[in-house]
Amino acid sequence: MIHEIIPVGLLQCNCSIFGDEQTREAVVIDPGDETDAILARLAKHGLRATAIVITHAHIDHIGGGARLKAATGAPVYMNADDQELYDHLDEQAGWLGMAPPSRTAVDVPIREGDSISPGGAEFRFLHTPGHTQGSVSVWIPAENKLVAGDTLFRDSIGRTDLPGGDYRQILRSIHTKLLVLPEEAIVIPGHGELTTIGREKERNPFLQS
Ligand SMILES: [Zn+2]
Repeated sequence: MIHEIIPVGLLQCNCSIFGDEQTREAVVIDPGDETDAILARLAKHGLRATAIVITHAHIDHIGGGARLKAATGAPVYMNADDQELYDHLDEQAGWLGMAPPSRTAVDVPIREGDSISPGGAEFRFLHTPGHTQGSVSVWIPAENKLVAGDTLFRDSIGRTDLPGGDYRQILRSIHTKLLVLPEEAIVIPGHGELTTIGREKERNPFLQS
């Protein structure tokens, strides 16, 4: 499978593009900003976006969602527990001193255990609340990859001091939903460097009990 990671926007959110070589269908996860760069990367590989997945409704992850949907026609997937945050996108833009981006309807609510299989490979959604109430992680078993949004980072975890954050809950989500994945699974965090489940289990200072 084609996999491109593009750090986008002011906060350099890791936007992932997964594309199937045969069907040319692609899933775009967290198109926070720089829609033109995302579209150019899709075009470069001859890919057609058929799903836009939002790990959570913080502006740096969802800000480009409306523009990408308008350009590709792909449906937007997000957990309904983050709808309120998305409704306050203007306020989030204010915190960062940005112009508010356009918003769009969420087409498909993500629920725990749901999956989509564009082009064949399974993308399984894990509801991992704590950073926000609607935070999800995306597990792609055939690739042995986890897109973790802002739930799990290399040597860190998502902040829980913003509206909807809950420290005990994010730890529970990580322990029960993420650390049970294979140790060699590659983790693509919402920002910064990649890691593995095994490395974080062993060395992440927030996960040692
Ligand atoms: Zn976030």
